[in-house]
Amino acid sequence: MIAFAYNVKNPSIELTGPNWATIQAYSVAAKPARAEAILVICRAVAESGRLLRDQPQQVGIRLFRPASRTSVCKMGSMKNRLAQATIILISVAISSGAAPAARFTQSAPADQVSARARNLHERAIVVDTHDDTTQRLIFDKSFDIGGRNKDGNIDIPRMREGGLDAIFFSIWVTGDVTGPIAVKRAFNQIDAVREAVRTHSDLALATTAADIRRAASNKKIAVLMGMEGGHMIDNDLGLLRIYATLGIRYLTLTHSINTTWADSSGDKPEHNGLTPFGKDVVRELNRLGIMVDISHVADKTFFDALEVTKAPVIASHSSCRAISNAPRNMTDEMLRALSKNGGVVMINYNAGFLSEEYRTAKRSPELNARIEAKDKLCGDNEACSIRDGDRINQEAMIKGELPKVTWEKIIEHIDHAVKVAGIDHVGLGSDFDGAVMPIGMEDVSKLPKITDALLKKGYSEQDIQKILGGNILRVMEEVERIASRSRIRSDVSRSVPF
Ligand SMILES: [Zn+2]
Repeated sequence: MIAFAYNVKNPSIELTGPNWATIQAYSVAAKPARAEAILVICRAVAESGRLLRDQPQQVGIRLFRPASRTSVCKMGSMKNRLAQATIILISVAISSGAAPAARFTQSAPADQVSARARNLHERAIVVDTHDDTTQRLIFDKSFDIGGRNKDGNIDIPRMREGGLDAIFFSIWVTGDVTGPIAVKRAFNQIDAVREAVRTHSDLALATTAADIRRAASNKKIAVLMGMEGGHMIDNDLGLLRIYATLGIRYLTLTHSINTTWADSSGDKPEHNGLTPFGKDVVRELNRLGIMVDISHVADKTFFDALEVTKAPVIASHSSCRAISNAPRNMTDEMLRALSKNGGVVMINYNAGFLSEEYRTAKRSPELNARIEAKDKLCGDNEACSIRDGDRINQEAMIKGELPKVTWEKIIEHIDHAVKVAGIDHVGLGSDFDGAVMPIGMEDVSKLPKITDALLKKGYSEQDIQKILGGNILRVMEEVERIASRSRIRSDVSRSVPF
């Protein structure tokens, strides 16, 4: 239980309890000027961990603890015009302890995107290389990608709002499902994506960088496919060629467990990276013009793949290990090697890959039980398990049961990757509909905030366009060029029509 103590004679907030406290400050003033003043005071409270010593009279700060687990600092104007209360101004998370290190999030103003940022975002070709919405297409009968959904992160109206021009839908089967069952499931998912395109005129199937550019100029959303897990090729390069013909444009060499030919970052080393067959897979991917994706793989697999590949590789959805020590994030050494290879790291928004504090937080048995119970209810429905699990985790962040991770952390990872790998080697791979999103990046409609934040950080418009999509388009073009040089290349530039 988190507790607030407020001593009138010596106004200070003492935070007790092992977790995080959430302070919500409400403006009870109708006038924006007063709201602004209260915001400033709330910020001071949050940043210093103390109530203002000298100004309580001016704003009539009142503290109370409601019955909920969340402590609330309510600040009202002297006139106490509660009836006119209009705006929830800020939501603040302060870490507890004797000398609380404060963190401050100003959610309402941060949601505002400048006209310049909106304009730049509109002009840019925005590409996201990893979305798990395919599971919803398969399992969630109530999901309509063409309509605005209350849950999940992706649908056409929200992609339009977020200015997304191209999306890679993930073809994913969990790594412990192998052989013909995995292959059939992969085919079913490819069919589901292609059917979504066939039945929605806003979408256009794309397999090349030129397709993406064409779709953007025709005001369509380009749909591409990436296969997340080498086990789905069932040790068969022939199947890989068939997947290529159906439109697969990257292969993540492993998911969270080893394949028979590559080690995963989520498993014990078994092959010392890539086996000879694993190296053949990389060569065949080069020849076919399919990007080699090293998200999820063991570090040794990554370095082996770099040694074999003739084309730039991608990390379709990975973040920086220097900030969050998740084994499937990239170390600075890996980022530098990727840069040398000409590849690109697409930053993942998953809270656990963004924040070390969140990743290592102790989860209460009660929280785990809640997730397990939901999981049981979902049965085999992967979309349901992912969606409900993500929702419970995000709610736990908001309630203070887990450290709060806010969307600005995405910017921190982008900035770090740019500093280490260079501006030409960073992009966006959200993991939407497959991960716990940070507060403020609840869905794809929030994407322009990234453009706005990068502008505020001093990035040039040209550099921001590279991050939003220019870099991955360059890598796709390079991968296509290297494939076309191959003497016995099969023609995969055109995929099978509907
Ligand atoms: Zn993944």
